[in-house]
Amino acid sequence: MEEKNHKTHILILPIPGQGHINPMVQFSKRLASKGVNKVTLVTIYSINKNMPKESGLINIESIPHDDESPPQNIDRMLEWFHLLVSKNLTKIVEKLSDSEYPVKVLVFDLMATWAIDLAHQLGLKGAAFFTQSCCLSAIYYHMDPETTKISFDGSDVSLPSLPLLAKEDLPSFIYDTDLYPALRGLIFSQNINFKKADWLFFNTFNALEKEVVDWIRPRYPIKTIGPTIPSMYLDKRLKEDKEYGLSLFKPNSETCMKWLDSREIGSVVYVSFGSFATLDEQQMEELASGLMSSNCYFLWVVRATEENKLPEEFMSKLSEKGLIVNWSPQLDVLSHRAVGCFFTHCGWNSTLEALSLGVPMVTMPQWSDQPTNAKFISDVWQTGVRVKVGDNGVVNRDEIACSIREVMKEEKGAMLKENAIKWKKLAKESVNEGGSSDKNIEEFVSNLQ
Ligand code: UDP
Repeated sequence: MEEKNHKTHILILPIPGQGHINPMVQFSKRLASKGVNKVTLVTIYSINKNMPKESGLINIESIPHDDESPPQNIDRMLEWFHLLVSKNLTKIVEKLSDSEYPVKVLVFDLMATWAIDLAHQLGLKGAAFFTQSCCLSAIYYHMDPETTKISFDGSDVSLPSLPLLAKEDLPSFIYDTDLYPALRGLIFSQNINFKKADWLFFNTFNALEKEVVDWIRPRYPIKTIGPTIPSMYLDKRLKEDKEYGLSLFKPNSETCMKWLDSREIGSVVYVSFGSFATLDEQQMEELASGLMSSNCYFLWVVRATEENKLPEEFMSKLSEKGLIVNWSPQLDVLSHRAVGCFFTHCGWNSTLEALSLGVPMVTMPQWSDQPTNAKFISDVWQTGVRVKVGDNGVVNRDEIACSIREVMKEEKGAMLKENAIKWKKLAKESVNEGGSSDKNIEEFVSNLQ
């Protein structure tokens, strides 16, 4: 802990999803370690009712709500969350602003663009926290009619500081106009953050997205502060910081680690599609069959709500080849010596985790930012391969098995691994003392007084 004395209290407001809570919890810990007196993560009651009131360096505050849990449908959940926060934030800020530690700043999730107005009305500064890559924001920035006249008509898109992007490399919201219109609206309104927020924090690191960071920085005062992986996996300076700490699902930790311990180095494919994505039955069957015929061991996270889609005969043939769990301790799994490859939907956190821990990937993006992340993983950072989707919209079993073999067994795999190790080193440097993310966090904290 560094000895600085800023009588400052910062509130952190993620939207209630695992991929948003994890990076914002980690950012909170880093702020506290830099001497901010009090950092309070504000989450909904149903998420943290079983959690302690404080988690190491940070405090946790619940937003009360009557309903058992938030709506499952993401659009309705976002509207519900907006209403809930609008109703409760003033009370929370008043309650927490005791004379010793007045609340000064609200750090809000990029998707809660409405929070900047709430913050300013309460006399607080507002900082937007982007839980996706900087490249994503650059693409959305060019969708703003006030900023640009670029049209997205299905042909390849050439944007400043970005590689040429084909239709399938772009975020799904650009073409998929029907799915989750409320979420799409919030995503497209993120330029409001650029115009109104007092700070813009990105969970990325300079070396990873150099071109795009260099392009945005003269226009907007962005600060890269990532990757937000628990310190013990990177710089090891925050001694107690071994895990994210606020899990929406209970991990089958012992089962996973025991099973991995008995496998050889680099022999296991770890398969996960994160906390939200769902596969249809046909795709589940192709994946199950592709994993079986890859001739590798596999540890596959199938969330409880997805389990009924697993083919019956697959479960009976599984034997010691594969392990299915409902949720894993992902960081422990990815850093286990038995894991040779990460078969992933490439959500932004999973992508950063694989890059920070040096694990090559097979990417099977589903929606949102994942197609763009997959493009960068295969063509820019070169730490993985992307599966090809068939004309029927399904990735077939042979494609799945071939892609796994390419990463696990062939020469290309060795090259991907080498690159992954290079990114791991750069990720660690950026959060270590004097690294770009470390300096950005320090600069923010020292300007708060
Ligand atoms: N995760 C986990 N166990 C699992 C699957 C995922 O702990 O079995 C964590 C993972 O480490 C990551 C987050 O859940 O931090 C998922 O975030 P990501 O952005 O990759 O995907 P999303 O869930 O938002 O689609």
